[in-house]
Amino acid sequence: MSRIRILDESVSNIIAAGEVVENPASMIKELIENSLDAGAGSIRVEVKNNGRDVRLVDTGMGMGKEDLFLCVERHATSKIKDKGDIFNLTSYGFRGEALASIGSISKMIISSKTNDSKTGHKINLNAGKVTKYEEISRAVGTEIVIKDLFFNTPARLKFLRKKSTEYARIREIVLKEALYNTEVSFSLLLDGREVVKTSGRGIENTILELFGRNTLKNSTKFSLGYWGNMNLLKSNKDSIYTYVNGRYVKSKTIEKAVLDAYYTKLTRGRYPFAIIFFDISPDLVDINVHPSKKIIKFVDEDGVYREILDCLTDAIYRDDRKNSISLKI
Ligand code: ADP
Ligand code: MG
Repeated sequence: MSRIRILDESVSNIIAAGEVVENPASMIKELIENSLDAGAGSIRVEVKNNGRDVRLVDTGMGMGKEDLFLCVERHATSKIKDKGDIFNLTSYGFRGEALASIGSISKMIISSKTNDSKTGHKINLNAGKVTKYEEISRAVGTEIVIKDLFFNTPARLKFLRKKSTEYARIREIVLKEALYNTEVSFSLLLDGREVVKTSGRGIENTILELFGRNTLKNSTKFSLGYWGNMNLLKSNKDSIYTYVNGRYVKSKTIEKAVLDAYYTKLTRGRYPFAIIFFDISPDLVDINVHPSKKIIKFVDEDGVYREILDCLTDAIYRDDRKNSISLKI
């Protein structure tokens, strides 16, 4: 008798869920990115019970009956077919793990309808097992309801932070998705209170809707995004938003380039508002450093540093000159 055995799917899904679903915010990120991959023009997220109960409604392409049953299987994805696709990604998702993982540690209901089908379909799952299926009538798109997240993983449940912390994380995740996907309208409700609302009418409207009129007024467009002037200084670095190839990331290199560009203008402990959309050939980026934490490494860190520093310094300096000229006149 061997001692080693291949784990049952329901066990391996729970283990995978440990990585995919660190907290309610990371689960919501996965769901939003699925909606974006499905081409949704609008995404609404309702959160209750510390983030353990979530309802997401999108206007994406939806799923047919067969896909609805498949989408909760492990390693089931419509986004890649072979090895080559992994290095040429055009979607957020590709692992085919999120829904299987989320389903395994919650009670989940998915309803969906595609454009070319008369009826919609709905499945209920309990800890990853389908318990019910029915045909329904609904609009094109998908609705996912998650209840009692972590109900069968008590250790995870213990790591859930207090409501204000979990809700702040969720708000931040939705805001970051909305700030990049500015042609999509987002709505986030926390215990019935709408805390994020964008209309999907371009970047400047989105900045206005997410951060308010003062931020928009004091921000200037430049080649890599937007930079905020000295009226927008903050006491932490959280207002430096960086996206590489469309994904929100953390990069010490980018952060340093931004801070160094502002250098002479910053006093100790003050940080600028900036949005950086940096695009680079995928083979010059190592995205696997920390997939969930979104820490990124570049093959040529110095080159990236210099490019961002130059562009931003140039923009800030140009603005300085403009102001001093207008003052003289
Ligand atoms: P991945 O996103 O890596 O493919 P997921 O487990 O997140 O894996 O989703 C599995 C599949 O389910 C996706 O590839 C997609 O075909 C389908 N799917 C998930 N969410 C949606 C959605 N909101 N609208 C349409 N299809 C979806
Ligand atoms: Mg996904």
